[in-house]
Amino acid sequence: MSLTKEQFERIVQLRRELHAHPEVSLNEKATAARISTYLKGLKPDEILTDVGGHGVMALFDSGTPGPVRLFRCELDALPIEEENTFDHRSTVPGVSHKCGHDGHMAILSGLAECLSVDRPKEGKVWLLYQPAEENGEGAKAVLQDQRMRAIAPERVYALHNLPGVTLGNILLREGPFNASVNSIIITFKGRTSHAAEPEHGIDPARAMGDLFHRSLALNHNVPSDDRMRVVSSVYAELGSKDHGISAGRAEIHLTLRCWTDEELESLQNDIEAIAKDLAQRDGLKLEIGYTQRFHANHNDPRIVAQVRSAAQRGKLVVEDALNPYKWGEDFGLFTAEYPGCMIGLGAGEGMPALHNPDYDFPDAIIPHGVKLFEELARNVD
Ligand SMILES: [Zn+2]
Ligand SMILES: [Zn+2]
Repeated sequence: MSLTKEQFERIVQLRRELHAHPEVSLNEKATAARISTYLKGLKPDEILTDVGGHGVMALFDSGTPGPVRLFRCELDALPIEEENTFDHRSTVPGVSHKCGHDGHMAILSGLAECLSVDRPKEGKVWLLYQPAEENGEGAKAVLQDQRMRAIAPERVYALHNLPGVTLGNILLREGPFNASVNSIIITFKGRTSHAAEPEHGIDPARAMGDLFHRSLALNHNVPSDDRMRVVSSVYAELGSKDHGISAGRAEIHLTLRCWTDEELESLQNDIEAIAKDLAQRDGLKLEIGYTQRFHANHNDPRIVAQVRSAAQRGKLVVEDALNPYKWGEDFGLFTAEYPGCMIGLGAGEGMPALHNPDYDFPDAIIPHGVKLFEELARNVD
C-alpha cells in the first residue's frame, strides 16, 4: 500500500504548516501540539507526550507478538533567517526549518496515515518525534524517559534527507554513518589595562591568534581517511569595544569532527595541549569546556540488510555511501543502545545544502520515505 492522493496532500499541507511555524531546540511546544493533534486524528493505540521535553510518541499495535520497531524524526528548526519567499515561508523572524526536520515529521506522519488504515501484521510500531536534535540534547533526554526505556525497541530507524544525492535514492552504509562531533570552548583570562599601557596588563590576543593558527593546522579534511580530522572555527570574542581598554579576556569556539570517538578524543587532547602551551607562554588563566557532543551513528549490518531488502521491495533505488557524513546526529545515542540504522534519503541534485538560508525540504521525496518506512514497519523478519 502507498499513500493515497488525499493522504499525500494532507501530509504536504502538514509539512508546510510545520515549515511556516518553526521552533528552535527545546522550544518545540507548538510543533509538538500540532503533531499530537494530527496523530490523534489517525487513532493510534497510544500517544505519549512530553517525552524527554516536548517529544511525542505514537503506537500502532498489531495486537500479536513480534518485533518492537521504532521510527524517529526530529521536531526542531534552526536559528537561521529564511531567505525564501514562497507561501509557506517561515513566519518567525530568525528561525526556520533548514535541516528538513519538517519533512522528516511529514514522512513519519505519512507512515502513521498508512498504519492507521492498516495495522502491521505483527509486533508493535512506535513513532517518535524527538525534540532538540540540533543541539544534541534531545536523544539523551528521550532515552532517560522511563516510558521510552519501557518500550525497549528491537530495531530503531531514522532517515535524513541529503541534498546533492539523486531525488528519492536511498543511501546505506554499514558501521559509522556520520561523524563523532564535539564543540570545544577555550577561554584565556588575562588582565585588562589602559590601552596606552598594555605592559601593565596581560593581553590574550596573541594566544588567541596562535590558537587559531595552530589548531586549524590540525585539519586533515579527507573523508576517505579513517583518521579524518575536521577543525572549524565557529565563534570568537576578544576584549570589549571600549577603546581605552586593552583586552583581558578571549573566548574561542571550535567544532571538531572525526569518524571515531577514539580519534576525536586524540584531537581534543592535541587542542587542549596547544591551549595549555599558549596559556603558559603568555601567563594566562585557561578554562576549557565542551558542548554539543554527538556520538557517531553505528549502523548494524543485519538491520542495514533488512533496510536494503525493504527498499528493493518498495522499488526504491539504493546507493551505498562510500564515506560517512561529516555532520553530527544525536540518533547515534539510539544506535549505541539498540540495533538500528540511520538512512540517507536523496533530496535531489542542485539543492541548497543543509543549514543554507535558502534550503527547503522537497515534498517530492515524502512518498519515497513513507514507502521505505512502511516496508520496514510491515516486515516480518
Ligand atoms: Zn541540522
Ligand atoms: Zn537534521
